[in-house]
Amino acid sequence: MSTLIKNGQIVTENEILKSDILIEDGKLIDIYDSNQDASQLTELSSSDCQGQSSRGSSAHSRKAEVIDATGLLIFPGLIDCHVHFREPGMEEVEDMTSGSQSALHGGVTTVCDMPNNSPAINTIRALDEKIERKKHALLDRVRPQADEWRDASRFDSLRGASLEESFSKVDIRFFFGASKPEHIEELKKVDTEKICGVKLYMGNSTGNQKAEEGIEEQVFKVCSERNITLVCHCEDEQTIQKNKSENTNSEIAAHSEIRSVEAAVKSTKYAIELGKKYGTKLHIAHVSTSDELELIKLAKDSGQTVTCEVAPHHLFLNTDDYETLGTLAKMNPPIRTKDHCEKLWEGVVDGTVDCISSDHAPHTLESKNTKDPLSAPSGVPGTETILPLLLSCIEGGGATEPAKRLGKGMPKLKPEDIVRLMHTNPNKIFGLGKGCLAPGNPVNLCLVNPNEEYSMGVANLHSKCGWTPYEGWNVQGKVVKVIVG
Ligand SMILES: [Zn+2]
Repeated sequence: MSTLIKNGQIVTENEILKSDILIEDGKLIDIYDSNQDASQLTELSSSDCQGQSSRGSSAHSRKAEVIDATGLLIFPGLIDCHVHFREPGMEEVEDMTSGSQSALHGGVTTVCDMPNNSPAINTIRALDEKIERKKHALLDRVRPQADEWRDASRFDSLRGASLEESFSKVDIRFFFGASKPEHIEELKKVDTEKICGVKLYMGNSTGNQKAEEGIEEQVFKVCSERNITLVCHCEDEQTIQKNKSENTNSEIAAHSEIRSVEAAVKSTKYAIELGKKYGTKLHIAHVSTSDELELIKLAKDSGQTVTCEVAPHHLFLNTDDYETLGTLAKMNPPIRTKDHCEKLWEGVVDGTVDCISSDHAPHTLESKNTKDPLSAPSGVPGTETILPLLLSCIEGGGATEPAKRLGKGMPKLKPEDIVRLMHTNPNKIFGLGKGCLAPGNPVNLCLVNPNEEYSMGVANLHSKCGWTPYEGWNVQGKVVKVIVG
């Protein structure tokens, strides 16, 4: 089966190339310059991945299904390097099946799933069982036959693509956790091929996976020895507990004061120190403050291997949103004041921020509706909404809600930046081995209409949790098709 995608614009981390793509049996066979007649092409470059999509030469006169991609951007299948798909343990909120559907509709074809499940993934046995579940989730439990919760018409956005086929190929990678001495022994033995990294909770969050006293250093040491990327959730538990004991405000806004800027900064500083001490490949998860970004920049400038990610909710939501969103804006680390959002955005554009990841952490609406807002669970869904939020902020974008929130003077993103933030960098940092859009690689791409404006909302989203903090936001940029070979 051959498919020819005509007149699309391939986005790499460095440039946008107007090209035709020939796909055969799940493989990307050739890329042609759309401006030339395919039969007269000469070879432009070999199939390297150094930020350039190479274009091939040989004329293909075979019969192919033609997709007219005029006006569409073609991204490599995106990587969301921080999700919580809640399986095993909280499948009523999300499972690998619904989470993967949600990802796919957002142009995300690879996700890195966190270990704070129930049971937590901090033993080899739990990891193996989770890997086994993945096969089941993607091959056996194919929705949308479960039309009691999702109407098949919602899959229109992937029209033409065989949903089942692409869906079964969403690549879910797993993080390993460690919080107790016995987990260190498991970490020393775990097959590193089966994991994309280790997650360390420096403070408690969903699942209470905070590392016990003294365990943190051991995790840094073993990860360094085994050359594993270590992802740290940085919030200092002592500071949080102290703030909590002094807090008298029962409103949701107190969440950002209890889990303060100071708590995040103190913990990130400590993680960077440990990373330096042991030479660990350190990745700071969901950076929420400009102060942390400063520390990370300094460490990077000094030559230390430190990378970081920022979640969209720390860019586009701020403490003013508690008033309308209430507990739907409750996550860890919490939303901050607008000045932090602006500085984080500058870091996204100038390259200090390595990745954008969703920290997709769904909870049911019911559980969010607690009497005491401060006891509501923390976390928001987001793997499906990253791309439209970012595309709304590219050069030439219309009057979208995300662009409005950034404000007029803020630097604009280029489509190429999205490839850097959601493909090249996470691929490198977590050693995922994903190929770029080049001949010979398995096809893994998404077609996006960058000009389509629409109102984002739960009616068009696929997470099982059934809500989004961005309900009703006017955005620009829609995934129209995903092809995974
Ligand atoms: Zn998380």
